Amino acid sequence: MQEQIKQWLEQGDIDIFLGYKMIQGHPLPYCFTKENPDDLKDLIVGNARYSLEKMATKIAAEHKELKIGLLTRDCNQRALNVLYIWNQLNPENIKTIGVNCCPSNLKEHGDCSYLEPELIPPIKKMIGIDNNMQVKAAEQFNQKERFNRWMYEFQKCIKCYGCRDICPVCFCKECSLEHTDLIATGGIPPEVPIFHLVRAVHMGGRCIDCGLCEDACPVDIPLRLLYRKVNEIVTDIFDYTTGTRADQSPFNMLGEEVTLKPKPI
Ligand code: SF4
Ligand code: SF4
Ligand code: SF4
Repeated sequence: MQEQIKQWLEQGDIDIFLGYKMIQGHPLPYCFTKENPDDLKDLIVGNARYSLEKMATKIAAEHKELKIGLLTRDCNQRALNVLYIWNQLNPENIKTIGVNCCPSNLKEHGDCSYLEPELIPPIKKMIGIDNNMQVKAAEQFNQKERFNRWMYEFQKCIKCYGCRDICPVCFCKECSLEHTDLIATGGIPPEVPIFHLVRAVHMGGRCIDCGLCEDACPVDIPLRLLYRKVNEIVTDIFDYTTGTRADQSPFNMLGEEVTLKPKPI
C-alpha cells in the first residue's frame, strides 16, 4: 500500500494522501505528501475511523484542483458517492485505496447500557430507545410510547454539534442548526425535538449509515436509527439507496439517470 501511494505521489496522480498515523499513541488522520515520503512508513490502517472524505471536502473547497488520495472503508466510499452527487467533490480528482472494515464498524453501535450492572435494568431499554434496535422494532411501540421514548432520548442532548461535525455528508456552509430563526442559540437541551428533526430531514437521501454521529454522541442518542427511518422513506418513494451510486440523483422519481463523471475505483 505504501509503495502504491508513494508511486501516485511521485507520478503526480495525487498531490496528497489522507490516511492514518500513530501520533502519541493514537491513530489519527494524517496528510501524507510527496515532500515527506518517509512519513509513509508510518501509515497505518488499524481501527481508526474518521471521516477522511469530509476532510477531503474541506480541502477541495479551498484547493479545487488538488488531487486527493484517501483510504476508504465501505462507509467512506458510500459517503464519497453522496459527495460526488452533491458536487462537493470531483471524482476525477479523487483516488482511493479500499481497506477492510474495522472492528468498531462491526460492533453493535453505542448502547452503553451493557456497562450497567445486570441487577439494574438498563433504563434506556425501559424508557428510551435501544440503539441496537431495528426500525421495525422501534415502530412496534404505540404512538404515545414511541413519542415519549424519543423525547427521553432527545432531552439528553447537550447540543455539542458532534453529530453534525463528524458527519461526512453535513457539508453546508451555513447550517440550519445554527440558524436563529429555526434554533434558538444557547439553550441546552436545544428545542426538543426541533433540533433533531431538522437534522433528520436533512439526512434524507444523504445519510450513509456510517454510525459516526452515534459514536460521537456523548449522551448515546440513537441517531442512526432515526436516519435509517428517514432513508427508508426515501428508498420507498424515490427508489434510491443512499450512497450506493454516484450516478443517480437522490430525488429523481422518474428514475432518469443523471450523467455524472465516472467514479474512481
Ligand atoms: S450515520 Fe450519522 S455521521 Fe454517518 S452519514 Fe449518517 S448522519 Fe452522518
Ligand atoms: S445539519 Fe443540515 S444544514 Fe447542518 S450541515 Fe447538516 S445537512 Fe447542512
Ligand atoms: S452529538 Fe448528541 S449531544 Fe451532541 S448535538 Fe448531536 S445529538 Fe446532541
